[in-house]
Amino acid sequence: TNLSTDRKKPEIIAIANQKGGVGKTTTTINLGTALAAARKNVLIVDLDPQGNASTGVGRERDNRDITSYDVMMEEATLSDAIEKTDIPRLFLVSSTIDLTGAELELVDQAQRTFRLRNAFKDPAVEQFDYILIDCPPSLNLLTLNALSAADSVIVPLQCEFFALEGLSLLLRTIETVQANFNPKLKIEGIVLTMYDGRNNLSGQVAQDVRSYLGDKVFKTVIPRNVRISEAPSHGKPALLYDHKCTGSQAYIRLATELLRREKNFRAA
Ligand code: ADP
Ligand code: MG
Repeated sequence: TNLSTDRKKPEIIAIANQKGGVGKTTTTINLGTALAAARKNVLIVDLDPQGNASTGVGRERDNRDITSYDVMMEEATLSDAIEKTDIPRLFLVSSTIDLTGAELELVDQAQRTFRLRNAFKDPAVEQFDYILIDCPPSLNLLTLNALSAADSVIVPLQCEFFALEGLSLLLRTIETVQANFNPKLKIEGIVLTMYDGRNNLSGQVAQDVRSYLGDKVFKTVIPRNVRISEAPSHGKPALLYDHKCTGSQAYIRLATELLRREKNFRAA
């Protein structure tokens, strides 16, 4: 029998938005933790030189040895870079500020857009059900690598005034990636973050996004919740810092929604 046809494939999801501070890292960490709690094997790839996803799952900044930088520069394999976290079934490829250099160093390399996709040919990916890539706040080469390597993209969107403008730029970039690098890339969904029910603008933006993008928008909305913003300084996902808070509960619902979508998709 041909074993290669039996290979399990993870769902690779890029968490992307060129705007900073919209909840990419928070979504990566907490969606990852919620999926791991649902007994999925999850790998978080920190592709932001700020390294906040790494810190947020408890990886201290000192002695991050083999990181996403080494993977991008082909100085290490993905297997070499994968680390355990203290959270069962949650694994990490960490990042450091070195990753800023990768962007520059790759500029005149052939295949520069496919470094991450090539790294995912590593057999180590087969142990995972989900790989979540935390993207930097820019449509740079790192983000292009994530979109070229991914099956789908989740876009965290903060419900504020210019949200839709930024979104159309991102959607155009996704179309460019589909046309040039990765025809199978799909939009998994837009997730509305830091939603403030007392703020009329929040509600208006949410309504506009839903009428523009319909069922591409997750039903689950992530509320603005102070416990979520406290969690990173404790080196823990909000889900472990306070699993009962409204923010954590929302991320559990988001994971449930994602799992249900996948199930329906596979059944269809
Ligand atoms: P990005 O990765 O897009 O730059 P982050 O996930 O780092 O965004 O979030 C930006 C800031 O907002 C962080 O300080 C984070 O703790 C905080 N934050 C994210 N989501 C929420 C939320 N739902 N409620 C309150 N604060 C949040
Ligand atoms: Mg971030």
